Amino acid sequence: MSEAFLSTYEDLKYSGFDILGFIFTIMLSYSQAFYGLKERLQQMYEASEAAAISHSFMEYLTGLGKLDRLDKKDVLLTTAQQELYETKTKEIAAGKPIQYVTGSAWFMGREFCVNDHVLIPRPETEELVEWIVEDVNKRRPILNDQERVLSVLDIGTGSGCIPISLKLALPGAEVTSCDISADALSVARNNASKLQSEICLIQTDFLDASDHNKLGMYDVIVSNPPYIPVSEKDRLDKNVRDFEPGIALFVPDSDALVFYRAIAIFGKEHLSRNGYIYCEMDAAHAQECKTLFEQLGYQDVCIKKDMHGNWRMLRAGGKDESLTS
Ligand code: GLN
Repeated sequence: MSEAFLSTYEDLKYSGFDILGFIFTIMLSYSQAFYGLKERLQQMYEASEAAAISHSFMEYLTGLGKLDRLDKKDVLLTTAQQELYETKTKEIAAGKPIQYVTGSAWFMGREFCVNDHVLIPRPETEELVEWIVEDVNKRRPILNDQERVLSVLDIGTGSGCIPISLKLALPGAEVTSCDISADALSVARNNASKLQSEICLIQTDFLDASDHNKLGMYDVIVSNPPYIPVSEKDRLDKNVRDFEPGIALFVPDSDALVFYRAIAIFGKEHLSRNGYIYCEMDAAHAQECKTLFEQLGYQDVCIKKDMHGNWRMLRAGGKDESLTS
């Protein structure tokens, strides 16, 4: 076949004609692929979210950011890209969060690997980390007086977003993190090494008090534990309910505060004199959580709203130094 014929043949092939009797799919351009996905997603998400998801997916597919793709909007997907596009867009349209599809999520300006064994890090959790860093920096003189390294424990590692971000913001600190799930710990280990953040990861069933002897004394204890009563499962968005790990989300209806109680009791033995506990929670349990910590003798217990105006975080002090004084 002549070169001229082959080249015309290629053009026809990309336009979807099958003059040689083979079966071809119509190859999509970057722009067609983007708008095709966006339109599909507009039936399930608001327009801006549908666009954001589609951009994120196209970046994953082509390796090119929004602006670079704009220049190349008529470039066609390769066969491999088109195959990936077809499988993955089906998953996205079935409600799978884009972060699980691309395997990555952003937290405090850094990219974390995620898979369905770990929660997708939330912006509200960034506020919790920022609160801790701000407090620790404010309390440096008190903490430095102790003439030892600041020790931090995170309970419920998941992707490792909390301990890794704390270690990177407070390089001198010794950061430990525990999780019941070996799969989650392996995601966190991978993220810690990718982000060059040295943290210690331990597998523990935190609700089993006999496991607490694997842990030491800490100046900061932080946790974003599971807190959604299982009966509220149906009220969650489908993409959370059907795709995020239940073990990281749900608690029994009979005891929604089970993790907060375990953390508060643990803190009585494992929080250092000037230490503070920080927890993420939902607004429905904020007041009860505060009371629980106060009843167990914690000082300076306060709750804080997140960027959406919902009570989201709690801080409870050990014995001595009050942050409000
Ligand atoms: N600490 C992790 C996060 O905030 C995991 C939390 C969890 O599994 N409940 O994303």
